[in-house]
Amino acid sequence: MEKLKSGTQKLGLYLSPGQLEQFHIYYKELVDWNRKMNLTRITGYEEVQVRHFLDSLTVTLAVKSLAEGESFSVIDVGTGAGLPGIPLKILWPDIGLVLLEATAKKAKFLHHLVAKLGLGNVEIVVGRAEEVAHNARYRERFDLVLSRAVASLPTLVELTLPFCAIGGSFVAQKKGDIEQEVNKASRAITVLGGSLREIKAVDLEELGGERRLIVINKVGPAPPEYPRRPGVPAKRPIIS
Ligand code: SAH
Repeated sequence: MEKLKSGTQKLGLYLSPGQLEQFHIYYKELVDWNRKMNLTRITGYEEVQVRHFLDSLTVTLAVKSLAEGESFSVIDVGTGAGLPGIPLKILWPDIGLVLLEATAKKAKFLHHLVAKLGLGNVEIVVGRAEEVAHNARYRERFDLVLSRAVASLPTLVELTLPFCAIGGSFVAQKKGDIEQEVNKASRAITVLGGSLREIKAVDLEELGGERRLIVINKVGPAPPEYPRRPGVPAKRPIIS
């Protein structure tokens, strides 16, 4: 896990030998299960360390202050093989983590992985964000909402901001020229009770120079009619 170790140091993070061992186990399980099901196209040892694990940990650049001291609650919407949620949980063992994934098969991998890694306080929910976000147990309950590679921003904020507690934030990981995507999403952000806080560039040579974190604060409630029925946020996004 040398690539991960050096990369995280550049992010100002420290991983103990035990944490590096957890990432190593994660790698082995991911590649092993990937033979039976489609979890990832990235399978090389160094590639996974950088493009999955390190990339997931870049969200700390947007939430560092939140992490110091007390525990907080995180939901990863459309987590797939556990990204970015599981790397963050390995880094910060005290967070409460919900992994939300629509595909039951992937959830089976997640259960296996969480047990293998010995992680506590992780809940795996199988379902669609459009439905789960209307469940009072999850609605407006999280200090931090994460989502990587799930949808374009206007759709994504409808799927994620309803989970976010007022005063909490949503961090989207995006690539390339995202100004246009952010502009397109400005109406959806407002409608869903959000406010754009910042677009942060991730300067890590390992990842190339084009990564961005879009940080949205939840400043008011999401109207109860959102998110709309499954598929509608993608089919008819709220566009400015
Ligand atoms: N976040 C992971 C996976 C990205 S692929 C990563 O970065 O590697 C997108 C994942 O989101 C898929 O596993 C898909 O099943 C899930 N997904 C897509 N739409 C969803 C929805 N509306 N609710 C819950 N999960 C969803």
